[in-house]
Amino acid sequence: MSSPIATGNSMNAYSPNKPENGRPSNEVTALAQAWKAADCILIGAGSGLSTSAGYTYSGERFDCLFADFKARYGITDMYSGGFHPFGTLEEYWAWWSREIYYNRYIPAPKPVHERLLDMLRRFGDAAAAKDYFVLTTNVDHCFQHAGFDKSRLFYTQGDYGLWQCSLPCSQITYDNEETVRRMLAEQSDMRIPSELIPHCPRCGRPMTMNLRADGTFVEDAGWHDAARRYSDYVTKRKDSRILLLELGVGGNTPGIIKYPFWQLTDGNPQATYACLNLGEAVAPRQIHDRSICINADIDATLTDLAETLHSPFVD
Ligand SMILES: [Zn+2]
Repeated sequence: MSSPIATGNSMNAYSPNKPENGRPSNEVTALAQAWKAADCILIGAGSGLSTSAGYTYSGERFDCLFADFKARYGITDMYSGGFHPFGTLEEYWAWWSREIYYNRYIPAPKPVHERLLDMLRRFGDAAAAKDYFVLTTNVDHCFQHAGFDKSRLFYTQGDYGLWQCSLPCSQITYDNEETVRRMLAEQSDMRIPSELIPHCPRCGRPMTMNLRADGTFVEDAGWHDAARRYSDYVTKRKDSRILLLELGVGGNTPGIIKYPFWQLTDGNPQATYACLNLGEAVAPRQIHDRSICINADIDATLTDLAETLHSPFVD
């Protein structure tokens, strides 16, 4: 039986997009053509985009930032550390304030999101930027930091920069920057001072992260506004010449970005689906003829794409 999944180009760990003659690969050329032809671009961004921008959660960066937690608790990466059963809230917030700070309040090491926004602005329609919207499961604020229009973003899974009541007693979120900076500055031996433990101003219970992990996730007014804008965007453009640009979306939560993107492509003969993902660039067979799968680092691919959009190979 044949697989229902069609793979993209080379499945090597890194596949450079440029062949030896200096011309862009067929996939990047096809993506540039789809970009120019599109009336609008719906971007779906997963953790692979943040990784490409240098927000890596394991390896050297983790060992550098969390050596003490690794030695004492045996934690090996930032993702699993978020689930570690710390014995006290002082330890819990020492961990989290450090994770939040280095993945939310300092800029990502590489300007991948800035590059993407620059392309949307420069390779748009006439004098205007491309008509775009971003749907993302990332919680690191990279799109806002890069200057994306906040009214064109929908963060479905929360924000490292927000806290909520742990019950929760209300659908309200709270900005955490000031307290996080103090927690980071004042922590000692992997504990924060007890007086910095945050509590809900309404009911007094401990605060927790505003990250979707279970049914207690708070969807505040801003979340609902963004959800509505996303829904309106898709409703108005689902039959147009739309480019569905999926960046670094893995298999953990395919129901949020990947499957809807496949369905939108399947239901619209004018749609193009592009999947940029290092190691996992695939598309279903029924939309294969309108899919562009690029199995390579996203930063490298966007760099090639920007050059290609400029080049004479694409009209
Ligand atoms: Zn409360």
